[in-house]
Amino acid sequence: MPRNRTIAFFALLSASAACAQTAAVISTRDVRMEFRAGQSAPRLTGIAGDAQPRWTNRAEEALPAQATVRGASVALSWVLDPKAGTVDSRRVEFVYESASPHLRLRWRWEARADFGPVEHTISVENLSGEEVWLPAIESLSLDWKVTPGEGLTNFYVEKGAGSPSPEGVHADAVGASYRWSGYSSTYAHPEKDEAREIIPAEIVYRDDGAHTGWFAGMEFSGRTRVSLGRDGDSLKTELGLNPDPGPFRTRLAPGGSFETPTVFLGAFAGGVDGAGNQLRPWVRAVLNNPLTWKDPQYPLLVNNSWGSGMAVDEALALRMIGESKELGLEMFHIDAGWFRGVGDWYPDAKKFPHGLAYIADEAHRQGLRFGIWTDWTQAALDTEPGALNARDPKVRDWLVADVAADWKPEEFKGQTIDIGVPAAHDYAAKEVKRIVEDYHLDMLEHDGYLVAQGCTHDDHPHEPPNKSTMRVAHQWGGDFVLADNSTDVSYHAVRAYYDIYAKLRSEHPGLLLEICNDGGRMVDFGSAAHGDYFSITDSYDPLSNRRAFFDASHLLPAAMLESYVEKWPTPSLDNFLYMLRSGMMGWTTIMLDTTAWSPEQHEAARHAFDLYKRELRPLIRDARLYHVSERPDGVRWDGMEYWDAKRGKGVVFAFRGTTREEDEHRFALLGLDDGKRYRLHFEDKSAPDRYVSGWELRTTGLAVALRQPLSSELVFLDEATAHP
Ligand SMILES: [Zn+2]
Repeated sequence: MPRNRTIAFFALLSASAACAQTAAVISTRDVRMEFRAGQSAPRLTGIAGDAQPRWTNRAEEALPAQATVRGASVALSWVLDPKAGTVDSRRVEFVYESASPHLRLRWRWEARADFGPVEHTISVENLSGEEVWLPAIESLSLDWKVTPGEGLTNFYVEKGAGSPSPEGVHADAVGASYRWSGYSSTYAHPEKDEAREIIPAEIVYRDDGAHTGWFAGMEFSGRTRVSLGRDGDSLKTELGLNPDPGPFRTRLAPGGSFETPTVFLGAFAGGVDGAGNQLRPWVRAVLNNPLTWKDPQYPLLVNNSWGSGMAVDEALALRMIGESKELGLEMFHIDAGWFRGVGDWYPDAKKFPHGLAYIADEAHRQGLRFGIWTDWTQAALDTEPGALNARDPKVRDWLVADVAADWKPEEFKGQTIDIGVPAAHDYAAKEVKRIVEDYHLDMLEHDGYLVAQGCTHDDHPHEPPNKSTMRVAHQWGGDFVLADNSTDVSYHAVRAYYDIYAKLRSEHPGLLLEICNDGGRMVDFGSAAHGDYFSITDSYDPLSNRRAFFDASHLLPAAMLESYVEKWPTPSLDNFLYMLRSGMMGWTTIMLDTTAWSPEQHEAARHAFDLYKRELRPLIRDARLYHVSERPDGVRWDGMEYWDAKRGKGVVFAFRGTTREEDEHRFALLGLDDGKRYRLHFEDKSAPDRYVSGWELRTTGLAVALRQPLSSELVFLDEATAHP
């Protein structure tokens, strides 16, 4: 945009701001946003970031045009209430009212940190005294003016789900008639098993040298959609609840309200790692639990029992606690298999004759923390007191679908209850609290489908299903309901899930919450705001771990990204370290029988865990992250760079795949200072320590040579304080 037009715009903006609160600006270090309240609708007029042209938005907010009252559609007419709004440098709220039915809409933007993106939410309150049904409202809807022909790229990231796909990340050229939608729901679709969901966010940048642009994402774990399309000089994006299958409707009880899932919007330079190095610290500062980051052991080193599957018992647990302590691991984590049955979250007395608190107390005595796996929204057939029994008439009313007379749960999956139902929410909140307290937990892992989507009941708070088009598909012991109410069901269930966890956190500060949903199906920014770390995929070999980490670390803090390390063939010690390190770039959970390790492997693992605590963990927590290779394919080399400019320290994880040709690889490093010198320390002594310039590391690159395929090296970087 020509400079004079920019100046004219700001002059106009400040003139109108002086006479009424109908224009406003929010700025963080990274983005400046301008807002205007029109008589009938508000608008984000534009955003500007450092060193990049302004993005101008031409779309007025599409406030809901109609509502349904007593079965009849009523046109809504929204009028600005200029006195009700609030405007300051960090928060803008414009308020609109509809007279009939009487509704109040709050259009809110807020910067909760002095850097990074700004969050946006729309809420509608029902003041009418009678039930009102609202149609879909997008969380964010923008129409950027772009130059026809200007090169743009849309970058988005798949969830690791059951197993990372061969692609994982996408950088689409946004051509003249580009159309894209990405979906997130926490579900594996039963009829499209490998349909790829995304971590609900998009990073859009100009194909210029600086790769400047904007990014947006959704803080919600229900059924959501992110879409982007280009036509001529228009680049449109929408983020919100997934409107399909539609039409979406949601109920507003008298006095009730609906709130769009919160979105964030920011501006950046420096391509996807530029966006990520702004977004990751922002997630930590704004969404994550501050107590978690005050914990100096976060992210922890964990020993998990799933290496033995469902066969966990007291003897194994006690042995693993001893092993964990000896190896320097910090938490003992019992996976599925400890309970009497699905929905019956009491320890199996045959396996744990002294109960679980006994195990927890022993872990605590050894200086370890203790956590367990649960799937606390699942009902099954156990009849002991405390069990969530699907045949109990009260519980039957909470199930997403009735179970057949001959129905049987699977080993650790049953039928999901709809926690959007207040009574089910209250039951679950009480049960989760009991589990944490009775078993002396430091960590609670949830798995499975906590969030119902699609429900056959017409007496729940969500929209009733259209029974003529509804279908029920069987999946993993439980049912999956495909109905036009799926999105509204997920909306209510997610709100309930967040509420339960917020309450649990307030009652148990310091409790860690692991988010797992059949591996990495719940990786989103809403979960990031309500839990502490993610299982990022359900495949645990070195390549899957590195791929899932490579993908998710574009958007989320490395410390939150858990890799489970499972048994894998390691004929040599180099292969053994390659296996361990492939799962040690974020949160590390060991899931194999450490008693089967050779003394040499034992010693190597103990050393690796010690190094993690001393050198790697501080970088995983605080350093900037650079993706300095192509995505891992298991054949070529791949690597990840961490650089903490404040401490002048960093590390490069270097992995050699199966390649027999490439014995040496050069990683072009990022984020360093061309004029400074850095000491390189090769942990496995694959090369002698040496000093090199930042310029050399950026241009010719860091050379790493490894003799064996499927091996690795850690190269530590230290900024030289005196000229060596
Ligand atoms: Zn329901």
